[in-house]
Amino acid sequence: MKILLGGLHQEINSFAPGRTTMAEYKRKQCYFGQEMLDYAAVHPRCNEGADGIASSFRVLRDAGAQIISGGFMSAQPGSIIEQPVLDYYIEEIKKAARENLPLDGVVLFMHGAAQSEQSDDPEGDIVLAVREIVGEDVPITVGLDLHANISERMVRNANTISIYQRYPHVDVWETGERAARLCLDIVSGKIAPKMAYVQIPMIVPASSYTTETEPFHSLMQKGHEYVKAGKLLDFSISQMQPWLDVEGGYSSVVAIGEDGEAAADIAKELAEGLWNMRKEFKTDLTSVDEIIKIAEKNDSGKPVIMNDFADSSNAGSAGDSPEVIERILALESDVKGLMYINDAPFALACREAGVGNTVKANLGATISTKLYTPVAVEAEVRAVFEGKVPFHGMFVDFGPSAVVKIRNTYVVVTTQHRYNGDPALYRAFGYDPCDFQMVVVKACTSFRAFYGPLTDLIYPASTKGAATADLLSLPFEKIPESFYPFSDGEFTPVAIVK
Ligand SMILES: [Zn+2]
Repeated sequence: MKILLGGLHQEINSFAPGRTTMAEYKRKQCYFGQEMLDYAAVHPRCNEGADGIASSFRVLRDAGAQIISGGFMSAQPGSIIEQPVLDYYIEEIKKAARENLPLDGVVLFMHGAAQSEQSDDPEGDIVLAVREIVGEDVPITVGLDLHANISERMVRNANTISIYQRYPHVDVWETGERAARLCLDIVSGKIAPKMAYVQIPMIVPASSYTTETEPFHSLMQKGHEYVKAGKLLDFSISQMQPWLDVEGGYSSVVAIGEDGEAAADIAKELAEGLWNMRKEFKTDLTSVDEIIKIAEKNDSGKPVIMNDFADSSNAGSAGDSPEVIERILALESDVKGLMYINDAPFALACREAGVGNTVKANLGATISTKLYTPVAVEAEVRAVFEGKVPFHGMFVDFGPSAVVKIRNTYVVVTTQHRYNGDPALYRAFGYDPCDFQMVVVKACTSFRAFYGPLTDLIYPASTKGAATADLLSLPFEKIPESFYPFSDGEFTPVAIVK
C-alpha cells in the first residue's frame, strides 16, 4: 500500500504588510524526500501544524503503508505568499506523485487559509494538482485548520476533508490521525464515504469564540453526537480565518458519511446553527488604559492578561505594535508588566549596547509602518539571548533577542515574530508571568489553553492591528454582496454532495 503524504501549511492575513518568502518556510519547516519522513517520524505533539503531518505519518506507518514524501512546508502565519514559493511546492509534490505511480492513496495536511500572489486558494491548487496526476479513483483525504477557507474546488477534488474540532487548537494531532484513518479505510474498502458541504456567508473575529464555551460548544457537541450515533464518519465546522480577503471564501460545514443525503441534512442543520449564532460571537473589549489601571491594583498573585490579539502572531500580524508601552509611558505607570515585541533593529541595538547599558531609540512599528507610530523609549538592557525557545518538546526561533526594562515593565524584544501565547516564552527568557501584575499576550484564543490555568483575569484589549476584531474597519475587496458582518441578509443552506 503506497500512500503519498505532504502539504503546505500557512495561515495568511491578507492585510499584513509584506510577503511571505521561501526564507520564512526554511526558517520553520521545509522538508522534502527522506528528510520529511524522518521529521514526521520524530516530531512531538505540540499543538501546531506539523503535528498533523507527524500523526498522519504514524497512523500510516503503523498500518504498514509505504509512505511517499510529498514534502511539507510550513511558515509562521503572515502576509501573502510569494507566487514562486507556491509554484515550487506544487512542482515538488507533482513530481513525487508522478514518480511513484500507481499510488493507493494521498493524505494532505495543510492550513486552508493560504493565499498567494496569484491564487486565492493555494490548498485547492495543491489538491487539484495531485488529483490530476493520481486520477479519479485514488482517495485523497485532507486535514485542515478550523480557520480554513474550505473551497468548493477542494471539496470537488478531495474525498474527505477533516478540520480541527477544537479551538484553542489542542487536537491538531487527532486531526492528522482522522485524515490518515479515513484514507486507510477507503483504500481497504471498509468505507465509501460521501462528503456534504455547505458554505456559510459569514466571518467573525477569532477572538470572539472557542469550542470550549457556548454557544459554539453545543454546536460542536451536536456534530460529535452524530458521529457517536454512527450517522456520520467525520464532521467539520470551519470559521474561516476572518482576515483573509479572497474570492469564494466562506465559513462552511463538511459532513462525511456513508449516506450522502443524510450527511447533507446534517451539514445543513449545523450550518444553520452556526449562522443563527453569528451575533453572539462578540469580543468584549477593554481599553489599554483601563487594563493598565486594573493591573496597577492587581495584588492577586495572578497576572492580568492584556490580550493584544490584534497584533497576534498566529493571525498573521507582525508583532511590532508599541501601543501598550506607549500608554505605559503616557500614563507614567509603574505597573509591574511583562510584554513582548518584535523589533529587529531595537533587539540588535540592545545586543550591541550590552547588558547593564541603556538604549535610547524608537521602539515598534518597524514592519507595520502604516498601522503604528514608533515610540521613543529609554530602555535598560537586562539580558540578551540567542532566541531559541524550548516549546513543548521542540524549539521556536525568535532570533537574536534582548530583554529590556522600561519604567517597571520588562520587554522581550525579538528579531522574529513567533507564537507567544504560551508562558513558556517568558519563562525561557527567565521571567515567570505569575510574578507580574500584567502580562501582554499577542495571540487570539489559542493562548487560553496555556494561560487559562494560571489566571482568569483576561482582558481582550481594544488595540489596533492587522488582526483587529473590527472587521468592518479593514479594506476587504473580495467579500460577496451578502456576507456577515458586512451585510446581514437571509441564509438558506445549500449542500453540495460528492
Ligand atoms: Zn486556527
